[in-house]
Amino acid sequence: MKILITGGAGFIGSHTVVELIEAGHTPIIIDNFSNSEKWIIDRIEKITGQKPTVYEGDCADKKFIADVFQKEKNIDGVIHFAALKAVGESMEKPLEYYRNNLDSTMTILEEITRHKIGNFVFSSSATVYGDPKENPIPEIAPRQPATNPYGNTKSIIEDIIRDLASADKNFSALSLRYFNPIGAHSSGLIGELPKGTPNNLVPYLTQTAAGKRKELTIFGDDYPTPDGTGVRDFIHVVDLARAHIAALDYLKKQPKPFYDIFNIGTGKGTSVKEIIETFEKINRVKVPYKIGPRRPGDIAACWADPSKINKIIGWRAEKTIADALKDAWKWEKNIS
Ligand code: NAD
Ligand code: UDP
Repeated sequence: MKILITGGAGFIGSHTVVELIEAGHTPIIIDNFSNSEKWIIDRIEKITGQKPTVYEGDCADKKFIADVFQKEKNIDGVIHFAALKAVGESMEKPLEYYRNNLDSTMTILEEITRHKIGNFVFSSSATVYGDPKENPIPEIAPRQPATNPYGNTKSIIEDIIRDLASADKNFSALSLRYFNPIGAHSSGLIGELPKGTPNNLVPYLTQTAAGKRKELTIFGDDYPTPDGTGVRDFIHVVDLARAHIAALDYLKKQPKPFYDIFNIGTGKGTSVKEIIETFEKINRVKVPYKIGPRRPGDIAACWADPSKINKIIGWRAEKTIADALKDAWKWEKNIS
């Protein structure tokens, strides 16, 4: 299949492009490189032996997007990763987040409907569940009002997609709610590239192990969890990437119009302390850390019930936390 990948040079996008190529598909990347590097494309070529077609530009630019769809005939589906994703920044710059994330999606959806393509896969997030009443979280758990503009863009876009699927008989789509993607490609050639100080646990951890940061702070050890630290469903980014290929194969077989939502997680919660301990053990490296106060807005625990995608699509996460932390460290050493 010929698949358009918006944000294909980013963390999850680049791994998905590799998996698409390895599964025999033809990915076409659109990226404005606002949060990624051009050399990632060379790395994709180094891993797969194929250089994907890349269009550099903004997904919210109507003319540019119309030209891409015009030029690339016979697109079979679209995976829409392109978005700004920093929660804290979204609170400082709400308009930038709403403009970028909503306009990008609307522009892409307009072209999809114009060309009667369907097969749209959207990067949603477990953030739409807010602080869940219970874990693991099934897709039928209620969404909660977002506590930040980034999270709100995910809820709003899910609704836009649902509405389009009930109005346009040629449209079909899936929203995939990702839990916490971590890790890197096992080659160590592509991985996460945070700009400035990382907000997420694993990049902060690898940068501390590499000596780029003095110490890691555990944000709170007084949560009602087994060891007091936060618990998340950390999923290897390559497993997550593969979920997209399985999702597209499934979507292609559904009668149109069609819309559904799937969690993408392992079904297992892992604490912040367990992440640090596993990282130290698997990589034989010490990570200086201290206990600090809770980070405002954080929840105690959140992990997926992935049984819906396991049963219906047949995808399940295969890699371990240790695999992810080994690969993340390999990547960090390559870019340090
Ligand atoms: P990323 O920032 O690494 O990748 C996003 C890519 O999109 C970047 O290459 C960026 O340059 C590009 N981009 C952004 N706005 C664009 C625009 N207007 N036009 C063209 N390109 C644009 O992020 P990621 O971690 O790979 O996340 C991918 C998607 O998954 C995002 O939608 C994100 O919200 C979602 N998501 C990520 C996580 C996570 O923890 N990483 C969790 C849940 C959901
Ligand atoms: N965390 C931490 N120190 C850090 C970054 C994160 O203790 O420097 C914790 C955070 O409080 C949460 C978990 O690690 O319990 C995952 O945080 P992350 O920002 O990676 O993802 P989130 O679940 O917040 O999207």
